[in-house]
Amino acid sequence: MEAYQNLSRAQLEALKARLEQDLAGYRARGLSLNMARGKPSAEQLDLSMEMLDVVNSKSDCHAEDGADCRNYCDIYGIPEAIRLFAAYMGVEEDEIVICGQSSLQLLYDALCRAMLQGVLGSDKPWGKYEHPKFICPVPGYDKHFGFCKFVGLEMIPVPLRADGPDMDLVEKLVAGDESIKGMWCMPKFSNPFGACYSDEVIYRLARMQCAAKDFRLFWDNAYSYHVIYKDHPVLNMLDVCKEVGNPDRVFLFGSTSKITMAGSGVTFIAASRANTEFIKKQYAVQTVGWDKMNMLRHVRYLKSMDNIKELMKKHAAILRPRFDAVLGTFDRELTGLGVGDWTRPDGGFFVTYMAMPGCAKRIVQLCADTGVTLTNAGATHPGGVDPEDSYIRIAPTYPPLEELKAAMEVFCVAVKLASVEKLLA
Ligand code: PLP
Repeated sequence: MEAYQNLSRAQLEALKARLEQDLAGYRARGLSLNMARGKPSAEQLDLSMEMLDVVNSKSDCHAEDGADCRNYCDIYGIPEAIRLFAAYMGVEEDEIVICGQSSLQLLYDALCRAMLQGVLGSDKPWGKYEHPKFICPVPGYDKHFGFCKFVGLEMIPVPLRADGPDMDLVEKLVAGDESIKGMWCMPKFSNPFGACYSDEVIYRLARMQCAAKDFRLFWDNAYSYHVIYKDHPVLNMLDVCKEVGNPDRVFLFGSTSKITMAGSGVTFIAASRANTEFIKKQYAVQTVGWDKMNMLRHVRYLKSMDNIKELMKKHAAILRPRFDAVLGTFDRELTGLGVGDWTRPDGGFFVTYMAMPGCAKRIVQLCADTGVTLTNAGATHPGGVDPEDSYIRIAPTYPPLEELKAAMEVFCVAVKLASVEKLLA
């Protein structure tokens, strides 16, 4: 296929007219497709319906240690949940706290506590610094950026690559500024870029010299077992931090949102023993217990890591045709046109499209006008501003396959039209 950059002005004008007609055709079909968020599909949620039967009115609601899960009891998690999710996170049982139903809640709480009180080893709360800052690899997750903005952390964008953030830049930044307090990391199948941190990146993050002695990596491991095509094992960050003598550097977060039921899962924070003790004391102020009935339900349903891995294979079987549809449509429609590039993730929940600079907003707008709602252009960057106006997050998981295929056809026409408009401008 001929790259658009090689077409004459007359050819571009003719192409533009054709593409406008194509979009009008789709518009006439009255599409109403929403791909704005990375939600699991109904088929994925159906996989765990049996979970609702394992704890019912006939069930014994006592945990292994005899605690009645219907009542207030140990606030750090029931023993069988601690055991299962410690194995899931690859940590010891005294290095994890099992909490509520969403890891976003934990991430947000952890940031708020740090801003109000500091973390283990802080001289003062992060919020007492004039300009406390957080490093934000981009493209990244809009919720992370929203939290920073809300609690008053200035965001420093750092380029993300397929194997992790630009470590030369990260090392330089953290070495020179005591008010840089932490960094978002999505180490495996990152949202939305699909990055998997290499061993080198992980060791450099663990070892780097930080001016802030209370610097923390917020390790959001939302997709640790979420393989679609091929696994990319990522080192256990807590082990690496211990090995290099910085055991307290990392807070690790996970949840079963994308395993069982989204937003109704079990969530956990893991860290060094010292960090965990510190966090437990703070949780004791916040709560007299998380949802232990939900923990019980999850553990009785999931049972073991082997079962979790089997369940993840069933998720992959549902997701693979959806990702095939997105990538196949891009390959067929866009290869060789010079109108952008896209990621080929082996797992996680997203594909990222990198449009010609200056085209992302227009593409998202054209799709919206045609009945296809995408994540806002810019959502991948702090403050919702992508300086290149290039990155678009594609979330293929939720729509039924046929709708997804239609949405991707619309998307490709929108990409072509926005690119032609740009070249003609
Ligand atoms: N963290 C990342 C990186 C995510 O992509 C998502 C959901 O899309 C979440 C956290 C949300 O997880 P939870 O449902 O546990 O709050």
